Amino acid sequence: MLAITVPVAILFLRSATPVVDFPTPSVSLGQATPVSVHVQDAHGVRSVAAFVEQNGARFQVWEMAQPTRVADSTFSFEAGVKSTPLLKDGKAKLIVEATSNDFRRKTTRLERDVTVITQMPTVSADSEQHYLYLGMADLATFTVTGSFSEAGVRVGDQTFRAWPMPGGKPGLFSLFAFAWNMPAGTVPEAFAGNGPGSDVSSPLVVQFPKKEQPKYTVHDLQVSDGFMQKVVNELDPSGSGDPVARVVKINTDMRKANNKTLSDLRFKTADHFLFSQPFARQAHSQAEATFADLRNYIYHGKKIDQQVHLGYDLAVTQHVGVEASNDGRIVWAAPLGIYGNCVVVDHGYGLQTIYGHMSHIDVHEGDMVKRGQMMGQSGMTGMAGGDHIHFAMQLDGVQIDPKEWWDSHWIQDHVAKRVELPGFKP
Ligand SMILES: [Zn+2]
Repeated sequence: MLAITVPVAILFLRSATPVVDFPTPSVSLGQATPVSVHVQDAHGVRSVAAFVEQNGARFQVWEMAQPTRVADSTFSFEAGVKSTPLLKDGKAKLIVEATSNDFRRKTTRLERDVTVITQMPTVSADSEQHYLYLGMADLATFTVTGSFSEAGVRVGDQTFRAWPMPGGKPGLFSLFAFAWNMPAGTVPEAFAGNGPGSDVSSPLVVQFPKKEQPKYTVHDLQVSDGFMQKVVNELDPSGSGDPVARVVKINTDMRKANNKTLSDLRFKTADHFLFSQPFARQAHSQAEATFADLRNYIYHGKKIDQQVHLGYDLAVTQHVGVEASNDGRIVWAAPLGIYGNCVVVDHGYGLQTIYGHMSHIDVHEGDMVKRGQMMGQSGMTGMAGGDHIHFAMQLDGVQIDPKEWWDSHWIQDHVAKRVELPGFKP
């Protein structure tokens, strides 16, 4: 049995069939939409070509220049109305055919349904003055005409999704942040389009009051041997080597990975407001650290690391009940690296609150919570040297200063005045 199977397997391996996929999910073709194609074949490919088929007509949109022996290639090209003017608005198929570079010349064909959009949409932003402060949020409304697959507000390299105006009103809105480290002079713009190279934008009217920008403070944080031992034992239990290097690695790499996990929670958000009151700050708490403090980590008189602290450290007493800052839905209730036992509450439209270092969690992912509801107890799990709540807030995955959201006047002037916030009383 074995003697028969082996030669068959070898023959199968020798005459390969290309494996083709689209790494990017473009579902529409505009003027000149970038398309990437990934092709794998042990023998390389003799030919690769792309076509658009619509209403029985077939148009070649791209072809590989010459055969290759490379086993794994990614090709990029543009397809759309600019190079294929006979395309019409509506459904079409994007097709890629790849032929193996061996004696059998097996061909793979991959198809994807796409929508052709010949006209660019138009976008016009509201005429409000938007005051920008580092680390803070604002809300813009805008209107879009024509077809589009994505819209929002872009600030530098960050984008904030657009949502239909609540209450069935016409137009769109975006809550957006001007991140704590965004270069001054960056002008946020409303955009709408059909993927890279096929979008239009309209700048917001902005003011950047230079003198009133938040001033971030610098703190030296003394790192004791006891703290280092606690951190490596808890967060790198199977590691070995220099404890300083391990702590710095946790503080840098693990922090980055944890922040990515938090940021990705933006996709678990409600498409309506889940709250109707200002956010509440943990009762009777002292702020031991505030938003975007720069921290120097000092060990035996030497600076070993520096990080920006993107939240508030709120201390009350040990094992105090951790209160939900507002009504919402739990989207994370589990350990999360440097944040220790962590809870994230979604409040809708990409707005979320984060609670770290808890000793105990009493809620589960999917639970609805009310403002002030106890979700567990404070502690010092993760990268914490004492019992406190690390409280933070993020908007579409960008961490922001929560203080505006604690202020009912700010919510009235920046949110409730511009979109319907049911039940909100200033
Ligand atoms: Zn903290």
